[in-house]
Amino acid sequence: MKLLEDRINSDGRILGDNILKVDNFLTHQVDYNLMKAIGKRFADVYKNKGITKVVTIEASGIAPALYTAESLGIPMIFAKKAKNVTMNEELLTTEVFSFTKKVTSTVSISRKFLSSDDKVLIIDDFLANGQAALGLLKLIEEANAQAVGVGIVIEKSFQTGRQLLLDKGVQLTSLARIGAFEGGKIVFAPADDV
Ligand code: 5GP
Repeated sequence: MKLLEDRINSDGRILGDNILKVDNFLTHQVDYNLMKAIGKRFADVYKNKGITKVVTIEASGIAPALYTAESLGIPMIFAKKAKNVTMNEELLTTEVFSFTKKVTSTVSISRKFLSSDDKVLIIDDFLANGQAALGLLKLIEEANAQAVGVGIVIEKSFQTGRQLLLDKGVQLTSLARIGAFEGGKIVFAPADDV
């Protein structure tokens, strides 16, 4: 997605060997015009696949997931990282290791929001080693729902997540794919939506 690649080039900052900071349009301050365009793009790719729910993980997946859900006209569910007292129903839970926080957290979705009738599109902000998306796939499997696809805003293709997800047999749609960070520059690989 050209608009997204241009924004990554203008506003993205490379941290260390393998982290991209995009906190002025995606992970902290959020550009709703760009999120809307991203949501529309995911919806265009998946509109004929009978998707019934969009599922993401808090926090930074929520903005692109919500606009995708709006575009498809279906609900968005975000997996929660901390249990609170209002979550008193039966929960689907799994452990996810966070690439950026380096901690494992228990993530959960109330069972009542996913059933065997659901066809799910997972959306997330980044794909690195695939732990967040694999965790969501587990929750969807636990609900006996069907995971149809995974939509990623920014994939770092030099990490292991892409292959792990393709091995699971789901469709993967990454709107921007970073092949490498070279000499302080971002080198893009061909995106999945073109
Ligand atoms: P994974 O689970 O695929 O290893 O990592 C994906 C999660 O880690 C995303 O949900 C995102 O929150 C975070 N993440 C991974 N790589 C990056 C990165 O380069 N920059 C930022 N801002 N977050 C990242």
